[in-house]
Formats: sequence, C-alpha cells, structure tokens
Amino acid sequence: MTKVLVIGGGIAGYCAALAARRERAEVTVVARAPGATALYAGGMEVVDDLDSILGSPNHPLARLGMDAVGLATELDAAISTLKLALGRGGLSFEGTWRSRGLYADIHGLARPASVVPETVAPGELGGLSGKRVAVIGVPQVGDYDAASTAQALKELHGIEAFAEDISIPELPPAASITDLYGRRAPSPRARGAAIAYPPGFTNLPSDGFELLASPPSPHGWRLQQAIALGAVSAEVSSIETGRGKVTSARASGRAFRADAFVLATGRYIGGGLRGGRTTTESLFGLGVFHEGLAAASLGTRLQHLKYLDPREEMRMGVMTDRRLRPLLEDGSVPYTNLYAAGSMLGGYDYSGPCGFGVPILTGWLAGRNAARQGQ
Ligand SMILES: Cc1cc2nc3c(=O)[nH]c(=O)nc-3n(C[C@H](O)[C@H](O)[C@H](O)COP(=O)(O)OP(=O)(O)OC[C@H]3O[C@@H](n4cnc5c(N)ncnc54)[C@H](O)[C@@H]3O)c2cc1C
Repeated sequence: MTKVLVIGGGIAGYCAALAARRERAEVTVVARAPGATALYAGGMEVVDDLDSILGSPNHPLARLGMDAVGLATELDAAISTLKLALGRGGLSFEGTWRSRGLYADIHGLARPASVVPETVAPGELGGLSGKRVAVIGVPQVGDYDAASTAQALKELHGIEAFAEDISIPELPPAASITDLYGRRAPSPRARGAAIAYPPGFTNLPSDGFELLASPPSPHGWRLQQAIALGAVSAEVSSIETGRGKVTSARASGRAFRADAFVLATGRYIGGGLRGGRTTTESLFGLGVFHEGLAAASLGTRLQHLKYLDPREEMRMGVMTDRRLRPLLEDGSVPYTNLYAAGSMLGGYDYSGPCGFGVPILTGWLAGRNAARQGQ
C-alpha cells in the first residue's frame, strides 16, 4: 500500500487526502493551524470559463495539459466526492461547478458562487426576486446592522427587504457576530417572508437562510472543523531527501516517512509562502514564479507591478509540471515524489473566480498522483 503524507489542512489538503484514499493509499495529514479555508465567505467559487483558463498558459489548471472535457470530468468527480464526504460529516452543500448564483453577504453586497452550504442556497438573489425578505438583526451585536443590509438588498438588488430586530439578552456585552455561532436561530414575528440570518445560527426555519460572512467567518469555521477531523496537529519544520526523492518530513520531533508527499501549505495566511522583498516557499525552497518567470529574477520591476496593482502579488506562487510536481527556479523537478496543490500555486488570481476551484482540483489530482507513485 502506498503511503502518502499530505502537508496542509485546508481544502486542498483535504481533497488530496480524499483522492489518495480513494486509490487505497494509506494517508496521513499534518496541519499546523487553520488557514485561508477557515476565512472563506461561505460560497465556493470553482471556475468561471474553462476556455479562458485554457488560454492562460500559466494558470495552474492550464498547466495540467488537459482539454476542457478532461478538466470538466475531473471537476465533476472531485466536487461530487467532496460534497459526499462533507455531507457524511454533517455539512451539506448544494450546487456543482457548472452552477453559478449570486449571494448577499452581511452588508448586502453580492458575491458569485457555485457550491454553497445548504443553509446559504435559498438566499440566491435571483430566487429572492418577488419575495419579501426579513433581515434578522440582533441589537446586542455591534459589527452587523440588519437595517443597512436590508437597505442594500433593496437598492442594489431590487429585493423587497426589511429589518427585524430580535434581542438576545444573554449575549456578552459588546457582542460581535461570532458570538451568535452555534446558537439556535430565533423566530421572527414577520410571516410569509423569506428570512435572512447573519451567519452562525443553527436550526434555521424552513424559510430561513444564512448570509455570507466577512472574516472571521462562521461558514469558514464550520468547514475547517469538518475537514480537520483526523489530521495530525503539528508543523512540518524540515524534510529529509535522498536520490531525488523526499523520504520524510519532521514535525513535533516525529519523522513522517512516506512514499509520496503532497504540499498544500497555502499562501501567506496558510504559511506556505513567505512575503518580503522576494516571496519564497519556506519548506522545500521551491521556485516562486510570476507569470511564468522566476520572481527572484524580476527584481524591482516586480516591486513596481505590485505597487501599481496588488493583484500582481496574488498571481505569484509555485509552478508545477503536468503531474503537479513543483519546480525549482530553473524549471527542473527537484523531487519525483513531491506534488503541490492549492492556493500556493501561482498563475491565477487567488481572490478571483477559481478561489476554491484551483485548491479543489489540484488537491484532488495531486492526491491521486501521489497515491499512484511507483505503481
Ligand atoms: C479572507 C478570505 C476570504 C475568501 N473567501 C473566499 C470565498 O468566499 N470563496 C472562494 O471560492 N474563495 C475564497 N477565498 C480563497 C480560498 O479561501 C482559498 O483559496 C483556499 O481556501 C485555499 O486553500 P488551501 O488549502 O490552498 O490553503 P489554506 O486553507 O491556507 O491551508 C493551508 C494549510 O497548510 C497548513 N500549513 C502551512 N505550513 C505548514 C507546515 N509547515 N506544516 C504543517 N501545516 C502547514 C496551514 O496550517 C493550513 O492548514 C478567500 C480567501 C481569503 C483569504
């Protein structure tokens, strides 16, 4: 049985573990702490337009060397397996990578998403048109204002929304939206309206739904708790290598030996990339690239680009070959049994329409490739 070690406990590491276990590998996940996955707003953006992705040669999904049909088939498999696994853990999601809706956040601003928690799905803005929507406010909570959310729903999306305040006296003084987490949803007086709740409540009524969050996010926290089950909580601090292979990873004084390794350590929030004058990959010393060129070689030009447009920073990251093996700055593959996945990869806008799509699909494929190592 192939032994696979996944480094990273975000959505990419989780999908890698799912795929590797499906190939009957023995999988261990080591994760230091929650990363960006725990901050997501509550709607997974997967991919927008496969053809435009395939037309961007440095995009991590284009670098897989698959055509649109191949990518679509793999996305179908990855998303349905992910939804099934999360559903078994008590977290049900709706939608596929092909579906796309708009969902309001706690400020009434719309965000696109393809796969959303079942508690968010009924709040799709198109489906709310023609309905009355009661936006639940909690006067003790200081960082959310139902009246302004209702006004934004009206002004920005033409939805007949109104605020209804419900007091929860047992909340601590100066409560914030996170203090609502895990509480039973209060019932509003309004009848016959859809009910928009700030995120975090449980046991929503049948006509209720949750708004998307801004960090810290109850949606992200629920997802992170579901995917963290079974992971070893430790930080990989060094690796051992030999004959062009990784042989083990050290964490908390323990050596984790494996036949293949998946690196899914995220970006700056996760800890996989380190910022500074030049961005670096901290654990394996991998190359970091910007639009296909080694970032270290771009010098002050890259500093200027980043100054002019912060999105340039978001497009930097590790680059992989077709099998998702990460490259050194000179374009060579340093380790034949190391695979990289998730938001640490460069070549796409990580805050854009592939926010979850890249981590899910590259995690899925990296996990499978790792499990098939040596077969
Ligand atoms: C504020 C915010 C909101 C977002 N909202 C959305 C959204 O609504 N929709 C959307 O589609 N996308 C969203 N994104 C993007 C999306 O959340 C990320 O792209 C995605 O979650 C990244 O997943 P990941 O697994 O690659 O990385 P992460 O979730 O960051 O996971 C990295 C993991 O690696 C671990 N790690 C790092 N180094 C080590 C080490 N040495 N040893 C052990 N473990 C290590 C970390 O502890 C962490 O567990 C958002 C991002 C942010 C920052």
